[in-house]
Amino acid sequence: MAVCLSAGCLVTTITIALSKGRIFDETLPLLAAAGIVPTENPETSRKLIIETNQPHVRVVIVRATDVPTYVQYGAADIGVAGKDVLIEHGGEGLYAPLDLEIAKCRMMVAVPEGFDYANAVRQGARLKVASKYVKTAREHFASKGVHVDLIKLYGSMELAPLAGLSDAIVDLVSTGGTLKANKLVAVEHIMDISSRLVVNQASLKVKRETLQPIIDAFAGAVEK
Ligand code: ATP
Ligand code: MG
Repeated sequence: MAVCLSAGCLVTTITIALSKGRIFDETLPLLAAAGIVPTENPETSRKLIIETNQPHVRVVIVRATDVPTYVQYGAADIGVAGKDVLIEHGGEGLYAPLDLEIAKCRMMVAVPEGFDYANAVRQGARLKVASKYVKTAREHFASKGVHVDLIKLYGSMELAPLAGLSDAIVDLVSTGGTLKANKLVAVEHIMDISSRLVVNQASLKVKRETLQPIIDAFAGAVEK
């Protein structure tokens, strides 16, 4: 835990892990509700540690999938991560007390237009499924009793069926525009996704006095 010992002050430093793009942008109003304003935008700055108007609060910019890891190990006290990311991570060492209702989308199964998914499932076909979300996909198909071979990808899932890598994909969908542009159709809704506040369990005990007001301000801003 970092502390400021100068001039007799004993101020706890708070580190917030965010990914740039939609998570950073959509968390800004929540930070503002807690009186926290980052001094730079990660879109234009190359800095990975961004100071804020609060001398004891800083933001670290990490990949969306790395947010839970930074918070788990206490390198960040709190962070914002999608439910998709939290499921794949497992949530070890984390509290996820608050649904922030930002970065909303849906986890879906999608197949090429013209592929009779329902029939393939009925016939008990073994499906090849490509996804970045292998844990979510494995649990989904297991619960339905559908046999699948999972292929782990790190991005551009839409390409997999078009290139013959898989029969289906499991991916996040918001408008459906990307699926449509690649002649894919969503055939199954797995779950609704939004982002949650995640908190390091030890930080919450040791830094509660500083963290709780931030958490409360976020909660108040979500309700509005
Ligand atoms: P990267 O783009 O760096 O490979 P990423 O795709 O995980 O990583 P983002 O695109 O910033 O990062 O997504 C962050 C989170 O926002 C995701 O974990 C998910 O919860 C949510 N999300 C992803 N796609 C959408 C979308 N199209 N609309 C709304 N929310 C989304
Ligand atoms: Mg993305």
